Amino acid sequence: MPATIISGKEISARIRERIKGEIEELVRMKGENPDFALPGLAVILVGDDPGSSIYVRNKRKICEEVGIRSFGYILEKDTSEADLMGLIDQLNEDKNVHGILCQLPLPPHLDEFSVISAISPEKDVDGFHPINKGLLSMGKNCLIPCTPLGCVEMLKLSGIGIAGKHCVIIGRSNIVGKPLAALMLNENATVTITHSKTRDLQEICRQADILVAAIGKQGFVTGEYVKDGAVVIDVGINRDTENKVRGDVLFEEVSEIAGAITPVPGGVGLMTTTILMQNTLQAYRNIMSKEAVL
Ligand code: NAD
Repeated sequence: MPATIISGKEISARIRERIKGEIEELVRMKGENPDFALPGLAVILVGDDPGSSIYVRNKRKICEEVGIRSFGYILEKDTSEADLMGLIDQLNEDKNVHGILCQLPLPPHLDEFSVISAISPEKDVDGFHPINKGLLSMGKNCLIPCTPLGCVEMLKLSGIGIAGKHCVIIGRSNIVGKPLAALMLNENATVTITHSKTRDLQEICRQADILVAAIGKQGFVTGEYVKDGAVVIDVGINRDTENKVRGDVLFEEVSEIAGAITPVPGGVGLMTTTILMQNTLQAYRNIMSKEAVL
């Protein structure tokens, strides 16, 4: 029997509707009060990489859709680290900004780790700051990277249980594989993380109840990697020879074996920006509740 399709389109539409409703309520609360800030997201883009520019435009569009204020900063590709840090400091202090995102990758003369570490952890809506990474691995409340959280939300909102399941993740990057492993562990899955040096990869993957592919190689995961009825989450975004977006999973083959599967496009990719909105609203609420206490 062909797999159930886990639709990122449907699930993210549901989440966006909820966020929109919450922001409409905040707008009502604000009324005519000029001091009442509404959720705001600042997006910094250094340089003119076409892929990154599309992502940034898309984020702005979705902010508009849900009612989050967006502030865009497009900097020259030769911007100095001092100037970029200066902007981050300014945004860290800005009362109208609750989320700060610096689009990666950065040009090679800028050190990503230093830049990410300069963002206030409470405004770090990408969840890449070392403090948020540490809190996540300790199972504490924090801002969680959008793509891994999107994967978990997709499972939960599709009614797929995680506790006790064996989750195998292919890929150990800092933005997907590693945080997803921590998150799945926090959800009580038994987690195996695999990578380019893993031996007997197919055999390990065939043991997975939930298999996640975050590799960056089109069609890498074939039917031989998948146990009958397993849930398959495809994080990959690759361009084929016709410039069409393709996943890391060979969908036509794997969807005949898996119990449920995310498509590409229309799967995890759509969730990532939606979760960015959710994280911005969470950062806003955290900051506001702290200010109310002080
Ligand atoms: P990355 O290049 O940083 O990491 C790739 C990982 O795959 C590495 O850990 C590597 O060890 C592993 N790998 C490579 N070849 C392998 C092999 N032969 N066998 C086993 N493991 C292998 O990539 P990333 O940033 O984690 O992204 C992975 C994919 O996910 C890319 O296609 C990327 O475009 C996509 N992505 C999608 C979203 C989204 O919103 N859907 C977000 C981030 C990344």
